[in-house]
Amino acid sequence: MTLEKNFWEHKTLLEMNEVEWEALCDGCGKCCYRKFIEGRGKRERLYFTRIACNLLDLETGKCGNYLKRFEIEDDCTKLTKKNLPDFAWLPKTCAYRLLYENKPLFDWHPLISGNSKSVKLAHVMIENGIHECDVIDWFDFVIEEN
Ligand code: SF4
Repeated sequence: MTLEKNFWEHKTLLEMNEVEWEALCDGCGKCCYRKFIEGRGKRERLYFTRIACNLLDLETGKCGNYLKRFEIEDDCTKLTKKNLPDFAWLPKTCAYRLLYENKPLFDWHPLISGNSKSVKLAHVMIENGIHECDVIDWFDFVIEEN
């Protein structure tokens, strides 16, 4: 199916079809890095890390087994139109978050650049990632929100 030119500018997220919805993902892979919460009540804090899901290819940001990811990783969740409002932690660069907040996509987004490598070239991806299976203390890998 051919994508309509600049469909994200004249369609709402709810109006997009499945192909358009999938095409919105820039492939940065940042949502596949672990986060954790420490503390309770007013002291509760969300930490972002450079610890990746074991399936994530750290170089390309692609899932190593996209078709079977839900079977392999128990906590892998599909981002949908319905649950998007629950994903407030998505990176500030994420196309779904940007459109949900009525903001434009960045010009390095592959839909705009026409180049699947533009995300990496723009240094949007998390650097020095490490797989969860290689980590003992998650606090050692905390990073700023991205
Ligand atoms: S953070 Fe958003 S744009 Fe990046 S891989 Fe995840 S869903 Fe796609």
